[in-house]
Amino acid sequence: MTTNTSGSGVVINAVPDRIGTPLTPGATKVMLLGAGELGKEVVIAFQRLGVEVIAVDRYPNAPGHQVAHRSHVVDMTDPVALRAVIEAEQPDYVVPEIEAIATEVLVEIHEEGFTEVIPTARATALTMNREGIRRLADERLGLPTSPYAFADSADEIRAATARVGYPCVIKPVMSSSGKGQSVVRGPDEIDAAWDYAVAGGRVKGGRVIVEGFVDFDYEITLLTVRAMDPATGRLATYFCAPIGHRQQHGDYVESWQPQPMSEVALGGATSVAARIAAALGDGRLGGRGIFGVEMFVKDDDVYFSEVSPRPHDTGLVTLGTQRLSEFEMHARAILGLPVDVTLASPGASAVIYGGLDEPAIAFENVAAALAIPETDIRLFGKPESFVRRRMGVVIATADDVGTARQRAGDAARLVRPISTSPQADTAAVAAASREPTPQPAAAQDDLAQTRMTRRPPSPAGPPPNAGPPPNAGPPPNAGRPPQQAPRPDVRLQKPVRSGDDPR
Ligand code: AMP
Repeated sequence: MTTNTSGSGVVINAVPDRIGTPLTPGATKVMLLGAGELGKEVVIAFQRLGVEVIAVDRYPNAPGHQVAHRSHVVDMTDPVALRAVIEAEQPDYVVPEIEAIATEVLVEIHEEGFTEVIPTARATALTMNREGIRRLADERLGLPTSPYAFADSADEIRAATARVGYPCVIKPVMSSSGKGQSVVRGPDEIDAAWDYAVAGGRVKGGRVIVEGFVDFDYEITLLTVRAMDPATGRLATYFCAPIGHRQQHGDYVESWQPQPMSEVALGGATSVAARIAAALGDGRLGGRGIFGVEMFVKDDDVYFSEVSPRPHDTGLVTLGTQRLSEFEMHARAILGLPVDVTLASPGASAVIYGGLDEPAIAFENVAAALAIPETDIRLFGKPESFVRRRMGVVIATADDVGTARQRAGDAARLVRPISTSPQADTAAVAAASREPTPQPAAAQDDLAQTRMTRRPPSPAGPPPNAGPPPNAGPPPNAGRPPQQAPRPDVRLQKPVRSGDDPR
């Protein structure tokens, strides 16, 4: 990396067009901070390009550890330990894959200039806190968002609702995957929502965002890539086809691509995504990589919700749908290589949950699941299962999104997590394994539930749970030859690109 120092720290001016040999002094070295299922796919993408990969996570044998050249077990919220591992490995690129990181260390190493943080240290710091990103989106960029306010106590929430109104969503400013998040419909629900948020936040202190509830028609992730344009040698912004998804308890359970959108809504979404992704860069070549921009869509109106400056879980679907998955594009963009956002086929993903609280579980019925046409599976290899831990995913393609969703959902339901413990209560295990997306016992509100009473069905296909129950016999298409129907020419949906920095 060629750098020079300006008033605001190191600015990236060039990305070397050279990849060395792994495990030699000339290697190109990447360190992944976070080595879960998304990190694992990024590691594999780098491995394929001949890059030396070091995977860091807080527990041993994390999915990404299992495919990297080297692995480290480090509490990444500990600044001393984080700095020590980066200094010991001296990577060319540090690639955060999770939010719970001592981001002040990333800012320091960026300032010192011996490694590049992806997309930028500032972006990593801003997006780990809902307050930072919401203020950037609303106050600096003027992006459309739901009404919102911040609160440090139940009383402040009460005051905030005067501006935001009911129903509203209460979320800890530092939390992910729906943790500590609930919907409040009236003043008497505020105290419980505050207690729940304080318990679910990533850090002590209990600050929350109070967000107006958006009664959206559907929600999307617009995968947005900031990568080198070989024609100009400058960064350009590329957009994948929109991904629709369904969340339960703040966690994604299925996604599909493409999500049909009106031209106006797609134009609005593209503009929002371009502006937020560009704002997280450094104005030159810093800020490369993929961004998962989450938005709510109501009629033709688009509301910015969140952005992850890294591959997005709903984007797992791109492992089947795109010529280059989001993980491959992240790796390419980081290395200064060109990307390609071509959609190869409509498709869907469906999550496989652990269904059990124990280590070293096994999965049965994988063969039956893969007998459904055009399905593929990733089992992440996580060493310990929890009832609601994401342990795998099915990816399916088809001529249309509705069929792909059906296939992915059917296949995911067929896969059965089982205990390998000799002491296991087999009856309990069987019961757990019949429920691949179990409902947590917490009485806290489920946003999807709230919406179900108000929202028309998703435009993109059948309800995902409409398939047969697990163990209901072989899937209807098992044993038939692969489908011969011609694939619609989805390439007609041209990749969109914008070379201009819209800031
Ligand atoms: P988040 O953790 O902010 O990504 O929220 C998780 C999920 O909760 C989202 O994907 C939405 O399904 C839902 N959600 C979050 N905020 C809102 C909101 N203001 N209005 C409606 N639904 C929301």
